[in-house]
Amino acid sequence: MNILICNVGSTSLKYQLFDMDRDAHVLAAGGAERVGAERSRFYHKNPDTGDSVQMDASFPTHREAIAAMLDHLVGGCIETLEDIACVGFKVVHAKGVTGVQFLTEDVLQAMEAFNSVAPAHNPPYLSAIRQFQALLPHTPLIGAFETAFHAQLPPEAYLYPIPIELSRKYAIRRYGFHGASLEYLTRWTEKAMGRTDLRLILCHLGGSGSLAAVKHGVCIDTTMGLGLQCGVLQNNRIGDMDPYVIFYLAEECGMTLPEIKTMLQTKSGLYGLSGGVSNDLRDIQLAAEAGNEDCRNAVKTYAYGIKKYIGAYTAALGGVDAVVFGGGIGRNSALVRSLALEGLACLGLQLDPEKNAAAKGGMDLSATGSPARIYVVDTNEELMVAQKARALLLRTRDAARKGDTL
Ligand code: ADP
Repeated sequence: MNILICNVGSTSLKYQLFDMDRDAHVLAAGGAERVGAERSRFYHKNPDTGDSVQMDASFPTHREAIAAMLDHLVGGCIETLEDIACVGFKVVHAKGVTGVQFLTEDVLQAMEAFNSVAPAHNPPYLSAIRQFQALLPHTPLIGAFETAFHAQLPPEAYLYPIPIELSRKYAIRRYGFHGASLEYLTRWTEKAMGRTDLRLILCHLGGSGSLAAVKHGVCIDTTMGLGLQCGVLQNNRIGDMDPYVIFYLAEECGMTLPEIKTMLQTKSGLYGLSGGVSNDLRDIQLAAEAGNEDCRNAVKTYAYGIKKYIGAYTAALGGVDAVVFGGGIGRNSALVRSLALEGLACLGLQLDPEKNAAAKGGMDLSATGSPARIYVVDTNEELMVAQKARALLLRTRDAARKGDTL
């Protein structure tokens, strides 16, 4: 069974085609960049043959990028479009819907209903999914919602202290995101430690990031909320902040609500704190090393936010067996890991500086004698989505077969 997993950004498309009958072997991988710009870029690789393509292209919308992807798949590693059993998406947010779902019109409308709280994620996904519907009308489209991993949060972790009737009426609560990565980190750590009765603090730190507290395999708290604009700060989006900053800016500082919203979701986080130097931590670390005070403070503020949540989640879990870092920053920034864990020997977390400096995916970075483990993991969100899509397809086929024989 071949499953195509597509990751959609507002100007990008990334894909991997898995052969699920060969241990999720990757048949092809590629993507499109700068979709919507004057000149776009397309790349495609077939790991079995080593064939690869990189070229300039014209992708005014995701539709042309999807068509290029399908062109390269057919006649490459598959013969016809029918060799794709389904397309899976790591979809973000929908009102009243979570888990793994066939992307029916009802589900798409539920996603649309939360466009305003996931403005960077839901609209591009919706538009790309509609293009897939047009280009692959007979192929099932399946979404694995990022919120699903957090479905068992207890009320004390998901309630916001506003009038409860408002929360009920408008479905306002903490949902949590990055579920595919957080689930992968959980399963990876359970396997590495040979146990499932673990108290884990997971740090998925990418351009967008969140932490989660996981007890015995179940997420009991997480840093993201109704939307993706809270918790630890993001590359260009706000993290935790007193909501009254918004009223102050609107009522006293002459900004309109749309201006404030744009500022919070595109000009804040690392980008905002660094004074606009970059939204990429690599650039900010370099500028900090060169003496830029704002960049130095941006890195420190970011790591301090992570440290505070590690402390809070150790309390919530009643101790910690492992802290696990994943995502582009969690995997690659020794500086962020060391700042975030500095002084946490009191919680049983002792980082080995040499292992930290030479970290590779799958390594235990804890010092000899550290009571708790510190792992860095190459997360694999696409694999999680492919496994879930496959399970849903098999369940559905099974149910249809049983229905047939009744
Ligand atoms: P996304 O959330 O967009 O999927 P990734 O998980 O790929 O992001 O992480 C991207 C981020 O990882 C970049 O914005 C960059 O800041 C950070 N990053 C990647 N490599 C390094 C590195 N060597 N050192 C510090 N940060 C890095």
